[in-house]
Amino acid sequence: MLPDYAEYEQAAGLDWYSLDPNLSALLDRHLPDPGDRSLAEEHVGRFGALVGGVIAPRAEVTDKHGPVLRRFDRWGEEVDEVVHHPNWTQNKADLVRNGFVSLEALAGRPVPGVVTASVSYLVSQAETAIYCGLGMTSGAADIVERYAPAAARDDLLSRLRSLDPDQAWEGGMFLTERQGGSDVGANTTRAVQDGDEWLLSGEKHFCSNVDAEVFIVLARPDGAPAGSRGLATYIVPRILPDGSANGFRIKRLKPKLGTVGVPTGEVSLDGARAWLAGGSGALDAGAGAGGADAARDGRGLNRMMEMVNGSRFGVALMGLGIHRRSFLEAAIYAGRRSQFGSRIDSYPLVRETLVDMLVDLEAGMAATYECAAAARGAQDPESGRLVRRILVPLAKMRCTRMALWAASTGLEVLGGNGYMEDWPMARQLRDAQCHTIWEGTENILCIDVRRAMRGEQAHIALLARTEQALETGSGHKVLAGALDTVAASLRDTRQAISYLEGAPDDIALLQSRRFAELLADTVEGALLVEEAAWALDRNGDARKAAVARRFISRRLATPALRGITDPDRSVLDLFEPLVRYGAIDESDLAA
Ligand SMILES: Cc1cc2nc3c(=O)[nH]c(=O)nc-3n(C[C@H](O)[C@H](O)[C@H](O)COP(=O)(O)OP(=O)(O)OC[C@H]3O[C@@H](n4cnc5c(N)ncnc54)[C@H](O)[C@@H]3O)c2cc1C
Repeated sequence: MLPDYAEYEQAAGLDWYSLDPNLSALLDRHLPDPGDRSLAEEHVGRFGALVGGVIAPRAEVTDKHGPVLRRFDRWGEEVDEVVHHPNWTQNKADLVRNGFVSLEALAGRPVPGVVTASVSYLVSQAETAIYCGLGMTSGAADIVERYAPAAARDDLLSRLRSLDPDQAWEGGMFLTERQGGSDVGANTTRAVQDGDEWLLSGEKHFCSNVDAEVFIVLARPDGAPAGSRGLATYIVPRILPDGSANGFRIKRLKPKLGTVGVPTGEVSLDGARAWLAGGSGALDAGAGAGGADAARDGRGLNRMMEMVNGSRFGVALMGLGIHRRSFLEAAIYAGRRSQFGSRIDSYPLVRETLVDMLVDLEAGMAATYECAAAARGAQDPESGRLVRRILVPLAKMRCTRMALWAASTGLEVLGGNGYMEDWPMARQLRDAQCHTIWEGTENILCIDVRRAMRGEQAHIALLARTEQALETGSGHKVLAGALDTVAASLRDTRQAISYLEGAPDDIALLQSRRFAELLADTVEGALLVEEAAWALDRNGDARKAAVARRFISRRLATPALRGITDPDRSVLDLFEPLVRYGAIDESDLAA
């Protein structure tokens, strides 16, 4: 069991890996290969100490001293330079050096997805703004690796994946324009071919990490049709080889509510030189004279969506990071604060709040780690791809919404202090509100889940995976009731699917959020049952069974009298082992 949270003063300064036994249990479960597991221990452990001890305290300062745009130098020359607080630069340098952008380069071997996800979850607990910039750098590097022309690829990649902060370049992506964020098909940025390159002109309205060096940009090649199928994806350097600006002007930095450290600007492109991110090898082969045909192959948006899907998954991890930080700050404060002569964490309502913050966090982690591990755990690669296809938008929807709730709830545990900017919760709440919008609002994610179902039948793979998870829990008496509740919810889900398949379009759209929530609850419940069975089989510990039962009774059951007459006392009697990750005996759980 972890020490009493009252022994700590605050979360910053602590080792966040050693305080998170659920994280190490997830690594144990998803990394059965001992080599993978020890790789995880080395790198995730290192990040736990680095992020909690060094990155987090600096992040409090960068939030209060955000970037500013220096438009002109003292000669009156336009420079459009973004000036950062030194803490921001130091944090980025430490993360780059420690392989946050390219762990494979540091480890010298392939790194399982759950390891990189764990590192991102830890960094998000300190500051999601910094993860935004460096996460997009990884995404841009992947697009460059797959689609950049051979002449530029190696140079760009060696910079984007560099472990040397002085050499490292960063990436970003520009989709959104004034007239369209959700509706990217409304994009008006034009691309005109110029030999093997393209010249881009237009206005981009939200450009995060705006002082990065390489951007992945959506534009419409001249002559391409309207709508999303007419778009192509381009790779745009901010600076030309001679050091001059590449037709790129930062109009202003936006005055944001949160994620202050990362500069988000409005950008004009005026004949910016670009390479087409064409079909594999399209440019190298000179297909269609420098990619003219490839630019109009109708698949440009799909290439951009490869990056967007990766960053949607990253935003789910941002939500988990904020949720975890909110829990930790609230647990520590509740242990230290006394009112009416007792610690506030001795009061039933505070106990329930802390337990439920943790239960919902573990549910979100179950779904998100399933996305990270889907390729490895699936019966075949296509099932893994389909599970990930539908579970990533669900996890992003769920984890960002819950993070907002957790930040608000955690802030309230700190009472009036929570609302103050010299305590850590106000920033978490401000930052959390960004993530339900970034990379697709909740509505757009619900519609994307529907698209995955209609276009690819991805729900069939996810429901099969859900059933499989339930089967693993079937031998455990302590899980029997919870399992029956999830099984009933799975039947409801199937019934809802067949109803929605025959429903008029407007009704199906109207119900798409309710449906996505039912699906997310059912999947998370089943995955928690599976985790609980795994823990019981491993060493007889029923703590995760208590977590699964609590989640399922709150989210999937419909108790009489709103649960007021429910005799279950587990949030009171098992409070300590639940929030401090102690072992629980099966016999301590009510029948
Ligand atoms: C801090 C920050 C940084 C950002 N950084 C970047 C960046 O680096 N690059 C980039 O490209 N973009 C960036 N964005 C933009 C972001 O992705 C968009 O704001 C987001 O996708 C929503 O688009 P919008 O703002 O145009 O809202 P709109 O699309 O106008 O949406 C407004 C509302 O209408 C709803 N809505 C729209 N269409 C539908 C529909 N069909 N059905 C139901 N509801 C609908 C939405 O859910 C939303 O609630 C950033 C945004 C923020 C806040």
